[in-house]
Formats: sequence, C-alpha cells, structure tokens
Amino acid sequence: MLADTITNNELLDLTAEDVIHRLFHEESVTLYEPQAVQFKCDCSRKKAEAGLLTVGRAELESLLEEKGAVDTNCDFCNQHYHFDAVDIEQLFTTGKASGSTVRH
Ligand SMILES: [Zn+2]
Repeated sequence: MLADTITNNELLDLTAEDVIHRLFHEESVTLYEPQAVQFKCDCSRKKAEAGLLTVGRAELESLLEEKGAVDTNCDFCNQHYHFDAVDIEQLFTTGKASGSTVRH
C-alpha cells in the first residue's frame, strides 16, 4: 500500500536507499551490506584432543614412532591439528595437550 505513493518514474530515478527512506521514513532503516554466507566449523584443538583420547595411547605412540608426530585433519573444514610426542604425553598425563601452535 505504501509503495503506491511512489510513482514508477520515481522508482526509476531513486536509489534503493531513497525509496526505502521515503517509504519507511518514520522507522529507522538499516541497510545491511550483503554478506557472503560463510561455512564455519566448530571444531577445535580441544575436540581433536578428545578424538585422540578415544584412539588410545598405544595406537598414538605407534604413530609417533612411525611418523614422529600425530596429525589430524578435520573432515569438515580441513583444519589441521598437529601433536608431537610431548603433546601426546601431556594429553594422557593431564588430559590436555600443550598449546603448541597449529600448523596449517
Ligand atoms: Zn573443522
């Protein structure tokens, strides 16, 4: 109904902001910048640690012997988590690995 108060010519001349301002000038109008929808994974190093704990220490230690480190990738976002022997050791002694930097 409000849109009828604007003629077609006006619609052609006015910017979207102008039209919205005319139609809804009594209300505060905020135009949001278009934003790309981003996929955001909620994985974390903590969750990676929890996963390692379920794998078991023996399995992880054989991985450490073989590769020198345990690397996991998130299946969803490909975030890479790196655990060295010290991290694994601490994970099973304190339940928490040291906060070594994540390598991408
Ligand atoms: Zn993830």
